[in-house]
Amino acid sequence: MKTYSKIPSGERLQSILCPLCGSGEDKHKLLYTYDLYSFKKCSGCSLVFQNPQPLFPDLSQRYDEDYFKYEIENEDSFFSLMMMALSDIGFESLDFSPFKKLRILDIGCATGRFLFEFRNRDWETAGIEICSGAVEYGNKKRGVNIHNCTLEEAHFPEKSFSVVHASHLIEHLNDPASFLGEIYRILDDRGFLIIVTPNIDSLQGFLFRSGWRSAIADHLFLYSLKTLEKICIKYGFHLIRKKTWGGLAKGLAPPAVKKILDIVAKKTGTGDVMVMLFQKTAEMQ
Ligand SMILES: [Zn+2]
Repeated sequence: MKTYSKIPSGERLQSILCPLCGSGEDKHKLLYTYDLYSFKKCSGCSLVFQNPQPLFPDLSQRYDEDYFKYEIENEDSFFSLMMMALSDIGFESLDFSPFKKLRILDIGCATGRFLFEFRNRDWETAGIEICSGAVEYGNKKRGVNIHNCTLEEAHFPEKSFSVVHASHLIEHLNDPASFLGEIYRILDDRGFLIIVTPNIDSLQGFLFRSGWRSAIADHLFLYSLKTLEKICIKYGFHLIRKKTWGGLAKGLAPPAVKKILDIVAKKTGTGDVMVMLFQKTAEMQ
């Protein structure tokens, strides 16, 4: 099953260099197409991304009232999955003692459900969300301090947060390099970065290719455990823990088969969703 995707016609497209190794289009080999969009694999570093891809001002129009409704309808299930990912990386046992204050930023925070959990734990919270309906709802209902802009536009002071969380967000961004550079700047020394994103080097990614539930127009990049680690190292982080889950989507096989494949995927790192916990490296490499 494909997730939310609303593709307006007439979006302007731009070609990009590979943000991981800097290669040009001659190194980007066609992997498959989805609707009007071409997913290419960089022969220099194996990163997979749409090229060309929509310009941000056009792309941002997709996150409208319908998107807000989608977020509200799925709020509880998305929240459960986020808490499961935290448990998978052993969040509760991390050492937060270096930080004077506990401050968390959730980027792509939708209606602020995840931040509300942390507010209730007496953390200082802030969110970033470009869907204005979700921002209004979250601030009014939950008081979790959501900014209606991109991360770069928020201009947080340096070392503002001890934890940055981005769940199902980085694959939607045109410029992961700028994003990771800004997170490095606003994280405390030894601060944590948690990223959840689809894993293309997965059983489902391999079996279904362009029919894979994450090969959709809204996903400009399709990372793997290897490529996400490489790009995060490049921008000043080191990996602490990683986990994958999701052997088969619901309804694609009898429940007993799905259960077995889910267990295998989690054990072998071939689940189609991954969580990676990084820490800010003291000095840039
Ligand atoms: Zn590359």
